[in-house]
Amino acid sequence: MAERLPWHEPLWGQLQSRRAAGRLPHAWLLAGPEGLGKRVFARRLAAALLCEAPESAGDACTRCRACHLFQAGSHPDYRAVQPSEEGKAIKVDQIRELSDFLGFTAQYGRHKIAVLEPADRLNVNAANSLLKTLEEPPGNSLLVLVASQAARLPATVRSRCQKLRFEPPPVGETLPWLKSRIAAGLEAQILLEVAGGAPLAALALADPPRWNRRRHLIDSYDRVLSGTTDPVRAAETWGQGDLAENLRWLVGWHSDLIRLKMSSGSPRLGNPDLRALLRRWADRWSARELFERLDSAVRLSVLCATSQVNAQLSLEVFFGDGAEGVGSGRSSPPVIEG
Ligand SMILES: [Zn+2]
Repeated sequence: MAERLPWHEPLWGQLQSRRAAGRLPHAWLLAGPEGLGKRVFARRLAAALLCEAPESAGDACTRCRACHLFQAGSHPDYRAVQPSEEGKAIKVDQIRELSDFLGFTAQYGRHKIAVLEPADRLNVNAANSLLKTLEEPPGNSLLVLVASQAARLPATVRSRCQKLRFEPPPVGETLPWLKSRIAAGLEAQILLEVAGGAPLAALALADPPRWNRRRHLIDSYDRVLSGTTDPVRAAETWGQGDLAENLRWLVGWHSDLIRLKMSSGSPRLGNPDLRALLRRWADRWSARELFERLDSAVRLSVLCATSQVNAQLSLEVFFGDGAEGVGSGRSSPPVIEG
């Protein structure tokens, strides 16, 4: 059944108050960072509105005919609209088909509900088409747009949706939830901090191969800097596995290096578990060099989306430059583009 996540309860309560007052809008925009369970919330809402006998807190009963259909993924009054392939756009044909679906009478006499996710992946034509539906929503229809980057949606679409803003809950509130779901030996507090407080993102990081991989990359970079491994070898290590994720770590660590460099105190870091090591790394470079290295890391992560081969070469240059150490006077390592 639709999962319930404990940090959603305040938002769920708000929504149920509106429902009780008969003030449900025709369109919601669930906005906020990744890893907070916005899609889970959207499904919980859809299940609750389709259910024939909701519980007192407004949740679906899980036992009625509508709940069984929803669980089986075959409720005729529910649609999930997603890109046909991950990373691709939601296209205009999908929105036209959705408008047709919403226009028909609900087969079970309640709501017709569609969840669009990720809604920030609507292409321009699809967004324009959706706007028409938002301007004249069919009577009992409910659209739920889920977006981690809501600012990418046209203002005309955003303004026609009731916004529900998801924020990372305080780390202390979600520690017990996370602790009960991760392997022994992993530290829930650190995982949550590294995930920016997003509990589902922290849970994803807690996959042991993934978390160990981060450690492996830290060691690899550290060995380059201490001269105990060569840049070509390091670039090979970094080129393995999920390159995009590896480069997100690289960018994140360099952001932390700059925070450490620019602060006289103890700044808040994205990777607080690496503070001592990052402090040592930060001492190798001037602030200007660190900004250049961050810039190179960002360009690398853009490049890797188009060319793994060039990313490999650029990684070698990046690590080679890093290995040269303090005051080498070199400018930003070039990113090889192609
Ligand atoms: Zn039910």
